[in-house]
Amino acid sequence: MPNIILIGPPGAGKGTQAKILVEKHNMVQLSTGDMLRAAKASGSPLGKEVAELMDNGKLVSDEIVTRLIAEALDAAKDSGGVIFDGYPRTLVQADSLGELLEEKGMELDQVIEIRVDDEILVERVSGRFTCGNCGAVYHDKTHPLKDGEHCDVCGSTEMKRRPDDNAEALRTRLLAYYKETSPLIGYYYAKKKLVSVDGLAEIDQVSASINKALKIG
Ligand code: AMP
Repeated sequence: MPNIILIGPPGAGKGTQAKILVEKHNMVQLSTGDMLRAAKASGSPLGKEVAELMDNGKLVSDEIVTRLIAEALDAAKDSGGVIFDGYPRTLVQADSLGELLEEKGMELDQVIEIRVDDEILVERVSGRFTCGNCGAVYHDKTHPLKDGEHCDVCGSTEMKRRPDDNAEALRTRLLAYYKETSPLIGYYYAKKKLVSVDGLAEIDQVSASINKALKIG
């Protein structure tokens, strides 16, 4: 299985598609956002350091996220393929990832850009919630809980909303995306790693486009 990066603005569907790849193809998802949220929830010194930046939609430092990825990579290395979700987000991080992969004798096979229109992001992000137990992702309008109360997957009633899924923080996150992250699209295009898929399609269709790009069934 390939090692891939999922790239796209907040609300593009990176997390949703990563979870599908994990379930169907035994890949491992490395999400710096998830790692940082876990640190925040645990109340660790790192969590305290990053909390305010995250809540306001600002990027945390390249050093911190690269350290988290380096630590997680050893365990993920021999899996069925690694999905980098939300990392790298800056050119400095992209260079660091290249060095890390080389050190570990790993290849980056493909970078998948999930393309969406900016107008739909506010709606997608502001209606989003997840199961606090299993992480399944829902949306008030487009993907509500089947019985209105329990997680469709694990039955838990403990639902969570991200503090940075509000209009103000989303504006900051979008700005960070266009300023810091979108240059990576040209960077990986030049390295002949980039494939773009239409992220406005239904979840299953986006997933099919990704499978086609990765040549997996
Ligand atoms: P995400 O879940 O990927 O949307 O990330 C949530 C927040 O975590 C971001 O808005 C940033 O504050 C922080 N974050 C996650 N990944 C990175 C990264 N690669 N570089 C800098 N900050 C990050």
